[in-house]
Amino acid sequence: MTRYKIASASDAVPGIRIFRLEPMDQPISFKPGQFAFLHILDEKGNSVVKRPYSIASAPGAPYLEFCIKLAGGEMTKRLEALGKGAVLGVEGGFGHFSYGDQPKAAFIGGGTGIAPLMSMLRHIADEKLNGTFVLFYSARTRDSIVYGKELEELQKRNPGIKVVITLTREEKPGSWKGECGRFDHEMLSRHMPDAKDFDWWMCGQMEMVKGMKECLAGLGADPKRIRMEGWG
Ligand SMILES: Cc1cc2nc3c(=O)[nH]c(=O)nc-3n(C[C@H](O)[C@H](O)[C@H](O)COP(=O)(O)OP(=O)(O)OC[C@H]3O[C@@H](n4cnc5c(N)ncnc54)[C@H](O)[C@@H]3O)c2cc1C
Repeated sequence: MTRYKIASASDAVPGIRIFRLEPMDQPISFKPGQFAFLHILDEKGNSVVKRPYSIASAPGAPYLEFCIKLAGGEMTKRLEALGKGAVLGVEGGFGHFSYGDQPKAAFIGGGTGIAPLMSMLRHIADEKLNGTFVLFYSARTRDSIVYGKELEELQKRNPGIKVVITLTREEKPGSWKGECGRFDHEMLSRHMPDAKDFDWWMCGQMEMVKGMKECLAGLGADPKRIRMEGWG
């Protein structure tokens, strides 16, 4: 386990906090999309509680970033109370949900499911990869879009990146020019007539991820090229 210090903890949107951690020892290594176990430590440095969290930063960043929903449970209650300078234990990176520089890549994320996809997109922009990269990101309302500004910047930094945001519960769309409603066959096929040519990564609530898998099958995507991570 490596010790990391909280460099910043800020609420991206109500109920979702972004933690940036700086290594106190040798940093962990990971692939874009993988997760790490965060440990709450006691005074002696022993682990009290641990939970898995997707790493949102790119492997090349000097810090680790996590995007965490403050759910009021065993772990998040403790994380919520921690501020700058607090020490956490980190183990990782783990998991098969990772991106390996595929040139035609599409990503579907809902809520905090954006976290591992941010790691992948930041990596794509940092490494100036050539290809076509499409992010489908679903948020409840305009005010609950995490990383909205950075997603705009990523599209400018790498013109191969296209971001499609849909709002599922916005009551006053007003000047909103993006999509509204849940992702479905019609919406995805409008943006991705060539879905079968892409590798896919999906992350979010288990229910959404399962539904999207069926939707992608209907669009002709190759099941062997669909990766899924679901929680909650
Ligand atoms: C691979 C992987 C990656 C993940 N990545 C992320 C990520 O990037 N961001 C993220 O936010 N989460 C992520 N998770 C989920 C995360 O691991 C935790 O499950 C989550 O933070 C809840 O942990 P907790 O200890 O606070 O809740 P737990 O105590 O484990 O409780 C689980 C749920 O029950 C509810 N609950 C607990 N106690 C009560 C109570 N008394 N009354 C009512 N409800 C209660 C909580 O609200 C919580 O939603 C990931 C999970 C996996 C498997």
